[in-house]
Amino acid sequence: MPLRLPKVCLAVQADTADELVDITESMAQDNPFVEFRLDYLKQPLTAVVKIRRFLETHQYITAIATCRRADHGGKYKGSFASQLEILTKASAAGCQIVDVELESALKAKPEALARLRRTVGLIVSFHDFRATRHLEQTLEKMLKIPADFYKIVTTATTLSDNVTMMKFLQTQSDKHALIGLCMGEQGIISRVLGVRAGSAFTFGAVSAQQKTASGQVSARELRSVYRIDQVDAATRVYGVAGDPIEHSLSPVIINTALRRENVNGVYLALHAKTLKDLIQCVREIPLHGFSVTMPYKQAILEYLDNTDAHTSKIGACNTVVRGQDGKLYGFNTDIAGVVRPLEQRLTIENAKVLVLGAGGAARAAVFGLKERGAEVWILNRTAATAQKLARQAKAHTIKRADLRKTAFDVIINATPVGMGSMRECPLKDDDIQAKVVFDMVYDPVETHLLQIARAKGISVIPGVEMFVHQAARQFEIWTGKPAPAQDMLRVVTIALQERAKAREPESA
Ligand code: NAP
Repeated sequence: MPLRLPKVCLAVQADTADELVDITESMAQDNPFVEFRLDYLKQPLTAVVKIRRFLETHQYITAIATCRRADHGGKYKGSFASQLEILTKASAAGCQIVDVELESALKAKPEALARLRRTVGLIVSFHDFRATRHLEQTLEKMLKIPADFYKIVTTATTLSDNVTMMKFLQTQSDKHALIGLCMGEQGIISRVLGVRAGSAFTFGAVSAQQKTASGQVSARELRSVYRIDQVDAATRVYGVAGDPIEHSLSPVIINTALRRENVNGVYLALHAKTLKDLIQCVREIPLHGFSVTMPYKQAILEYLDNTDAHTSKIGACNTVVRGQDGKLYGFNTDIAGVVRPLEQRLTIENAKVLVLGAGGAARAAVFGLKERGAEVWILNRTAATAQKLARQAKAHTIKRADLRKTAFDVIINATPVGMGSMRECPLKDDDIQAKVVFDMVYDPVETHLLQIARAKGISVIPGVEMFVHQAARQFEIWTGKPAPAQDMLRVVTIALQERAKAREPESA
């Protein structure tokens, strides 16, 4: 077993031995450390010969053999004796490490485990599929079994569970060789930062579709998006907090910017079920800054020590900085998201702008444009909300029937109409008359509104540009560096195209 293991172990699962080895072979170049999940195979023993041949020809690979029993969260249904037999044979085939669950290890004769350990490294593992609790007591139990690594995997039901796991790793990893992480969508912090806290390594999935544990991130993403190989004690931690958060594109866009500008920082998706949980994490991890998304843009305000003028006017915050004094400062970068793309196309001062909608994003647009001297009209489904905003921002309201009486320079859609696979448009064809049409909706990239505008020869601004510019401003606030907006636009466009492709029905 090598003295220094890579930070990421690729967890490989397959139905057949051929597939298991084929997947490993295809990814071997970037993944010199793999775990063969033999329990996923219908006949685990059939893999042994193939694994031997593979390891003989790939001597640089370090392999863990795991055949976890079904009652301990794995898939293996055979007898306890045959589980040990499979692991013994896998070790003889060249696997340098075997993983035995605590429950099986406690049943095994100590001589049997000692014999196994003469030829391989032994991981004793424990999985808690419900919660993150009793970590010290569990380790104490595990330490009764002589092993090379003790692996404790729990389930995060709150963001703070990651803090519990990382504190445990920080205090115990000096004394014992530990692997620790939290499963579940809320456990991503521990998957990326656990190694920094003292976990010997972490696990990465073959792909987003082939995970061996819930919340697992692909090995490729751990390296390329989260740059896990560079995460160290000095790495600043940022994140995006919301509920749900799984599909947020913010990690890909901000991590790209951090990498591009050589900032030692990492940005994580924080699935916050409550703001109290989030704030505790912000203080304990600690987070240097975070983005706020649905449904917390308004509710976060009461947790902040101070806000900029835009945030208080708009009544919503999408960016938080944690000062050196530990205080939380709120900003709203949606204004930059609206204004910057427009400035690239026309002079905002004295421009006549129609804003559709009167929610949080519309408020950012209206206040931002008024501040730059535009004349703004608001049209909203609920007229009273539009009137209130118009009063606050010294803008006008307009009725749908009167749209054709005013010639607008810009039309901005700040409603969700047209989002997802909807083929809806917030305006009738004839009402789409302007020099520029800006749709805040960014998925799909080309909405029905933009298609119609483009066909009429109108200059269009897709919502993805707003997404990039509000994120670019966040990056600038957190790092003090100019953001690489072009690179950010490129990665987010690719991610959206991939998403659209995944949605397409498969052709015959
Ligand atoms: P919000 O606060 O919930 O406001 C939604 C607004 O849209 C309200 O004025 C609402 O009218 C109106 N609306 C909702 N459904 C409608 C429908 N079926 N027909 C007509 N009007 C409808 O949401 P928000 O945060 O402002 O976001 C609005 C849109 O902007 C979303 O699609 C969001 O994804 C997008 N956005 C994009 C970016 C970006 O970076 N590109 C940033 C922020 C937001 P009522 O007052 O009548 O309910």
